[in-house]
Amino acid sequence: MKLAMIGFGQAGGKILDAFLEHDQQAGSNIVRAAVAVNTAKADLMGLEHVPEENRVLIGQSRVKGHGVGADNELGAEIAEEDIDEIQGSIDDIPVHEIDAFLIITGLGGGTGSGGSPVLARHIKRIYTEPVYGLGVLPAGDEGGIYTLNAARSFQTLVREVDNLLVFDNDAWRKTGESMQGGYAQINEEIVKRFGILFGAGEVEQGGEVAESVVDSSEIINTLAGGGVSTVGYAAESVADEKGGGGILSRFTGSNEESSLDSANTTNRITSLVRKAALGRLTLPCEIDGAERALLVTAGPSKFLNRKGIERGRKWLEEQTGSMEVRGGDYPVEASDNVAAVVLLSGVTNVPRIKELQQVAIEAQENIGEIESESEQNLQELVEDDDDELEPLF
Ligand code: GDP
Repeated sequence: MKLAMIGFGQAGGKILDAFLEHDQQAGSNIVRAAVAVNTAKADLMGLEHVPEENRVLIGQSRVKGHGVGADNELGAEIAEEDIDEIQGSIDDIPVHEIDAFLIITGLGGGTGSGGSPVLARHIKRIYTEPVYGLGVLPAGDEGGIYTLNAARSFQTLVREVDNLLVFDNDAWRKTGESMQGGYAQINEEIVKRFGILFGAGEVEQGGEVAESVVDSSEIINTLAGGGVSTVGYAAESVADEKGGGGILSRFTGSNEESSLDSANTTNRITSLVRKAALGRLTLPCEIDGAERALLVTAGPSKFLNRKGIERGRKWLEEQTGSMEVRGGDYPVEASDNVAAVVLLSGVTNVPRIKELQQVAIEAQENIGEIESESEQNLQELVEDDDDELEPLF
């Protein structure tokens, strides 16, 4: 499907940049328009793929291009004040050519965390296209303020968007690696999953059209109804089998052999679907109770068989208890992989969110206590004990 992507804040901008790079490399053409919004000039200048005219610096009179320093209330205020500047660059988007808006942001920071819900509300008021969010949760060791920001922004953003797709940095952090160093790799993982999901609805007519290609309306219907979504992914290499002596040549063999191979492809796909749904999700959660799901199997069409997809779909129905599980192909002939991507929409059993909220409440209480004590502590420091000294004026 064709998206207008808006990267809000540093994380949002970098992930948007990664989407653009992926789009160029894969030729998937899902990013119909790309806008980066930030209060920090340096972050905007660091982007590589977002066109310069689509980089919007907001809050110049308030923070002089230096960012909001993880103050998401200030981030929200600035977005309100400068919404016309953001709208100015959205005006250039050919909205009739897009299927949806996607606002990408790190929920734990300040600019994107505070600004994204404001922008989502604004876009929804003006346009009829769905507005989705892609929100990144901070890693647990980033500290109380980031957790508090994320919990408050999550709560607000879910209300304002048509669906919030969540990626949890904490679940993807590698031990022994600094988060900063790992971001490029993490962003690739994000783009891989969402690139397949959104790319699925973009198969060119008359091109590699398979039996049951995913349509963008299926993605939209899976996300409709709102709430929170997570994505699973699993892939397997078929490189060795693509050449001369592999499965393909055997497909042309006797009937008995080809039916054996088709059983093989069926099994491969069903086990990939299980791995995708039960492996590491972008937001770890219990899949039981997900309201809707979409299964996309991507790869050379020879390896995508209807029976495997159908079995995978049924299995997902059983596991989620949902009656709304859609499924389809995303044929990519040049790929060396067969991949399964599972979108679980309307998930509700998410211990990670409950934990985040608990830590956020504690952080909020601590911050409150420290603030109330700090005035008194300063007074005790500055005033002499018996009040013998007089200030100058
Ligand atoms: P903002 O610029 O004020 O909106 O804040 P940032 O985007 O810098 O940071 C918000 C949060 O996003 C941080 O706490 C990190 O958890 C996360 N983050 C920052 N950069 C990246 C990135 O490149 N990739 C990912 N996945 N997360 C990031």
